[in-house]
Amino acid sequence: MGTMLGTTLPDVDVWSERVTVALGQNPGLFTGPGTNTYLVGSGRRRILLDTGSGADAYPDVLARAMQRAGCDALQEIVLTHAHVDHLGGVAQVQARWGPLRVSKLPDPEDAPALGFAPLADGAVVRTEGATLRAVHTPGHATDHLCFILEEEDALFSGDNVLGIGTTVIPSHGGDLLDYMRSLERMLALSPRRIYPAHGPLVEDGAQKLREYIAHRDARERQILAALAQGDAAIAAIVKRVYVDVPEALHAAAGHSVAAHLGKLEREGRVRRLDARAPLEAVWSRA
Ligand SMILES: [Zn+2]
Repeated sequence: MGTMLGTTLPDVDVWSERVTVALGQNPGLFTGPGTNTYLVGSGRRRILLDTGSGADAYPDVLARAMQRAGCDALQEIVLTHAHVDHLGGVAQVQARWGPLRVSKLPDPEDAPALGFAPLADGAVVRTEGATLRAVHTPGHATDHLCFILEEEDALFSGDNVLGIGTTVIPSHGGDLLDYMRSLERMLALSPRRIYPAHGPLVEDGAQKLREYIAHRDARERQILAALAQGDAAIAAIVKRVYVDVPEALHAAAGHSVAAHLGKLEREGRVRRLDARAPLEAVWSRA
């Protein structure tokens, strides 16, 4: 998820000899042009990586993508994480292509009825022409997996890196400290391309990861500077730090500042002067 208004992508596109994308038909403020669902491999049966949100128009688009990719069946479904814009299409894909296995990193909040097969950090999923290796990368969601496509040194980044814009760290399940560690882990893999869950493909993955890290680091320095200048409430910090951002977006900015303060608190660099929730609390440098 990320804000990416104004970006459009074709419904079906071939991004490499082993990667074809079918757009989830679920455009929106947080999904941009919609979720990228990927057919991975080069054989008759492909892995489907993520399934979109369950939009009525999606199965026909996926069928067209399979035709375009030159395959006639799905081997199995693999999910980056349990947000609805990634797993919401599982039922309709299974209704059309049969009871395929669905794998993801187990999470206590997963509905048992969905019967996911467990996929651990480091697990490998193979198909003809492609090898996917799972990398646990929490921060946007606790159960988030990225996948290395070994044949291309490419990375399916899920929602951790987007083709345009920045990733949302939700107050439920999100954790900015975990997220920053995940970005470092992804960078250490030195991916060439990044295939994101939303937005266009990223040709220089390592560079994009460095940009993401630098962006968050700069924001953190601004927030610490605002605290040093006496701002104690998130509203005041937002006013100072997001001076160029329209006021309509200040509520969203407040959530982002709260995520930063939560990270800094875990690191012992700021403290909460009262027991209120992050958004309402009074903050100071430690
Ligand atoms: Zn997500």
